[in-house]
Amino acid sequence: MLHLITYPHPTLRYPAKPIARVDAQLRSMVDEMFHIMYEQRGVGLAANQVNLPIRLFVANPSGEKDTGPELVFINPVIKRATGSSEAEEGCLSLPGVNANVKRNKSVRVNAYGIDGREIDLEIDGFLARIVQHELDHLDGVLFIDRISEENRKQIIDDLMGFEATFDMKRKAGLIGSDQQLLDERAEWEAKYC
Ligand SMILES: [Zn+2]
Repeated sequence: MLHLITYPHPTLRYPAKPIARVDAQLRSMVDEMFHIMYEQRGVGLAANQVNLPIRLFVANPSGEKDTGPELVFINPVIKRATGSSEAEEGCLSLPGVNANVKRNKSVRVNAYGIDGREIDLEIDGFLARIVQHELDHLDGVLFIDRISEENRKQIIDDLMGFEATFDMKRKAGLIGSDQQLLDERAEWEAKYC
């Protein structure tokens, strides 16, 4: 059973490891990730947002089940990135926080699908923004790392609120210690990387 984790959970800052094998459990976890993404009204979800330290994300630019493409990117790499565009972003790991982020306008992304087939896509617009946001997650980068100092001041109270909630949950034993999280991640890596 996967659960969405929120800022400042340490797995969000952990660079995810390349996937070396896909099995039935991983396929069912991908289904669960889509389910969580739709439920939370998101358009993309990276594996480390559900505490899995592996290089995989799912996306559906429509944000709705049965509409638009359901995309799975395993071991994604951006081969070429061009142009620039700025737009507001949010993140399921920082619910309620939005800020403008500058991204490349178009990207060429290389990855593997859940069926093992190679993906080589030239994309732009909203999907290109999603891919860059999710790929950042896999590198331990959050959109709040890419916003202006001025915008950061506007969300600093929200961030402190998330930090306080995290500390409380940890003290209540609802989130593991750093060592426990490290052990959990090592187990997933031993299985899939
Ligand atoms: Zn995000």
